[in-house]
Amino acid sequence: MQMRINGKDHSSSDDSWINVNNPATGELVDRVPSGTFTDVEIAAEAASAAFDLWRKKTQRERGLLLYRTAENVRVHYKDLARLLTMEQGKPIKEATDEVRGFANILEFYAEISGQPAGDAIRLGMAGDCIVIREPIGVCGAIIPWNMPVIIMGWKVAPALLAGNTMVIKPSSFTPLTNLKLAVLMEEAGIPQGVLNVVTGFGESVGEAIVKHPAIKKVSFTGDCTTGHRIKNIAGEMFKDLSLELGGSDPMIVMDDADIPKTVEGALRGRFYNAGQTCTAVKRLYVHEKIAESFIRHLKKSIESLRIGNGLDPSIDMGPLNSSPTREKIADIVKSVQENDEGTILTGGYSLQGNKFDKGYFYQPTLVTDVNPGTCLLKDEVFGPVLPVVTVSDLDTAISLANNTRYGLGASVWTKDIATVKRVFNEVNAGVIWVNRHLTVPPEIPFGGVNESGMGRENGFQALNAYTRTKTLFLGW
Ligand code: NAD
Repeated sequence: MQMRINGKDHSSSDDSWINVNNPATGELVDRVPSGTFTDVEIAAEAASAAFDLWRKKTQRERGLLLYRTAENVRVHYKDLARLLTMEQGKPIKEATDEVRGFANILEFYAEISGQPAGDAIRLGMAGDCIVIREPIGVCGAIIPWNMPVIIMGWKVAPALLAGNTMVIKPSSFTPLTNLKLAVLMEEAGIPQGVLNVVTGFGESVGEAIVKHPAIKKVSFTGDCTTGHRIKNIAGEMFKDLSLELGGSDPMIVMDDADIPKTVEGALRGRFYNAGQTCTAVKRLYVHEKIAESFIRHLKKSIESLRIGNGLDPSIDMGPLNSSPTREKIADIVKSVQENDEGTILTGGYSLQGNKFDKGYFYQPTLVTDVNPGTCLLKDEVFGPVLPVVTVSDLDTAISLANNTRYGLGASVWTKDIATVKRVFNEVNAGVIWVNRHLTVPPEIPFGGVNESGMGRENGFQALNAYTRTKTLFLGW
């Protein structure tokens, strides 16, 4: 597949290619060009040229094109979901939800188009002010491999509705569905040059987007270390910046929680997408009064998960996205075992042979008796490993939940409103769920505090973040 610039297939100035392999089989799915600075330059020029006409459309005209794209995506959802599973590894049901989620996001922004996008301020005798919101210009979006379709939607829909044009870079592991979606957007009527997709590696194409002077805003989702680097470069250039980085979400389970419902929540919260989700449950704190029964049920449920190729509709969990990701998880668990930092209650090994073939499968893993200093509680573990810690009261649970450099999401499982109030007020995170975890509909602003990043995706907040205010002061 070629990259997509100015409404056309584009071959790279360099003739090297990136293979996209199926994580369940290791087989080649397709290949894409390994882009260069020159390709980003061509894309930025196309986006700059398209900006003037695109910004002059009304928001409702732009919203209508988002709506038509969503219709187009719904027509092709089965093929898109299949392609996403083949390049990313996730179960087909999750891929289907993600593709439909992309359409939902576009529809949400189409529906809010035409809403007041500014303000009027009376200043007594001094005059009146009219504040309008203008698009920023060409925006760059850098996308990770774990939820490539949803995250493309989070960035593209508000940016385009606000009147910006874009250069986007998919992850080199998962560029294929992003490219197909860009073509569907063009077919729905989004003009040439408004959305350009440059494929390639982070160090080349990603950095070129961050450094290109015509690209005025960068929206990045990915790892904290990459985020730090991008912040420094973009900050030097006074670019607008949105950073959605890692997380180590705590799940607090109190003694009045509904055990079956909470076990189901923990299972989905941790093992959805094979644990490769920014807001996955990465640490679980359970009240000592129910700990024994809760852990027993959880272990049984984890052991019942069906692992396999995501294209098989009966499976619950697919492979990890790549061999290095699996190696990293295996090394972490090995070091926990070797250093006596926890008890592996179930799992703790890679799956090989027969139906697992050359795929990057890892058995869902539950760790108890966790040493407080272990990396399972300190770092973001991006895979199917769940550490469970027993706590004696809510004070301890809140204090441990906050013992992190991250602050993306958190959840509390309880029937008690006073507990909810305390967790909401005292846990540092961008979103607090009660009796659920993970769900992020397009209406709710989403993003973290501390090292989980800056800025918000979704909702009116993201639309505003793709604009700048400009004020007309009328002195009477
Ligand atoms: P990553 O940082 O390795 O890559 C993300 C993207 O950045 C890719 O497209 C990559 O090619 C590009 N990139 C890499 N180096 C770059 C550089 N120097 N300059 C510019 N671009 C560069 O992250 P990943 O492994 O793809 O994604 C997993 C991470 O993303 C996890 O930490 C996860 O928590 C985080 N994430 C956060 C959210 C959120 O909304 N907060 C959502 C999904 C994933």
